[in-house]
Amino acid sequence: MPIFKKSKGKKKICVIGLDGVPYSLLIELARTGLMSTIARLIDSGHLHQMRASLPEISAVSWTNFMTGTNPGNHGIFGFLDFKPGTYDLRIPNFLDVKVDTIWDILTQSGYKSIVINQPSTYPARRINGVMISGFVAVDLSRSVYPPALFSTLEQMGYQIDVDSAKVAENPALLWPELSKTMASHQKALNYFWEQDWDFFEFVITGTDRLHHFLWSAYQDKSHPAHQAFLDFYQQIDRIIAKIIAGFKKLNESEDSLFILSDHGFTGISQEVYLNAWLEKEGYLSFTTPSPKSLNEISPKSVAFALDPNRIYLNLENKFPGGLVSRSQKKEIKAEIAQKLLQLEYNGQKVIRQVFKAEEIYKGKYSSLGPDLLAVSYPGFDLKGSLKKKEIFGRSYLQGMHTWDDAFFWAAEDYGPDLAIEDVASLILKKVK
Ligand SMILES: [Zn+2]
Repeated sequence: MPIFKKSKGKKKICVIGLDGVPYSLLIELARTGLMSTIARLIDSGHLHQMRASLPEISAVSWTNFMTGTNPGNHGIFGFLDFKPGTYDLRIPNFLDVKVDTIWDILTQSGYKSIVINQPSTYPARRINGVMISGFVAVDLSRSVYPPALFSTLEQMGYQIDVDSAKVAENPALLWPELSKTMASHQKALNYFWEQDWDFFEFVITGTDRLHHFLWSAYQDKSHPAHQAFLDFYQQIDRIIAKIIAGFKKLNESEDSLFILSDHGFTGISQEVYLNAWLEKEGYLSFTTPSPKSLNEISPKSVAFALDPNRIYLNLENKFPGGLVSRSQKKEIKAEIAQKLLQLEYNGQKVIRQVFKAEEIYKGKYSSLGPDLLAVSYPGFDLKGSLKKKEIFGRSYLQGMHTWDDAFFWAAEDYGPDLAIEDVASLILKKVK
């Protein structure tokens, strides 16, 4: 990595993101010697176990990270959300984020930021510096600010993400897709590292894709892809080592370096279809045998779920066919939560905790979100599908997200009670 001339007397800040990498996995890979850089960082600083957002998905968790707040304030509740006042769904994007991001605040402080592959920033918008959106970015030309850099990225063969649809059809494509994406991101890393910046952020998202498709390759030592899984993590360890070496050449110490994930991961034992459960419990019914959308719920419906674990009451004044009144809300929420906690699969409890929205969301947009959020025991992957008639089932996916096993590495110890929305203010304390 080329030496960059230190300029302007600002303290440089570097953030590395590892999408979907659990604290527990990093500890294991450091202990076994596979990730020697992480092992050294654990000795020299603090690896914190951290809570992700709820739901524990990238769209929400990374938005908590970049805004330093929760969905009640920033307005992003999931990859999908209702069009207000309807049962129609839409995909919220970066323009829906209702508060300043960490890069806006850095811009106001005169900091120049370079951000590569940050999930949930599509379409890329103006910051002082460079923004390259990560998934769910659909069009590279709208994934980069300033737009003039589009041709530079195109020439690099920049690929935003692994083509998950292609890999779902043909699992053999996972490794070539991962290496193509990683190689193009590393080219961008090398190119932009040489530019003028005060804040540099690089996010690796192939980790989440690998875990969804091949988590069992890590858990099962006899799995044909076990070594490839470990090799992938060794490659990540080398990338981290290279970034740190480059950062130190700028005469910056590790006290302005931060590494984090947006949620944890574990293996799937069963997928759990919350709408099928709500149907069986009598809270949800449809006017058609194979409903395609929530527009087909019957007028008697009391509640429905959106991916992955968001339960909405069919509230009057919120939904067009809403029948649950404000005065019934508390009681119905308590009843559904109580029943969910009783749900079992082969004698095992499925749901660990059910949060009322007001325990998670604070802010003026809170009422747009769900009423309940269910957290499962590891292995039970909650889903909001409308297509399933049975409560339990399996798909080609092997790994699922976890809520309280994300990680945050920093030189300083910030204590045991850390959530991803706390990270922005810790980083911004380094701004001089
Ligand atoms: Zn994921």
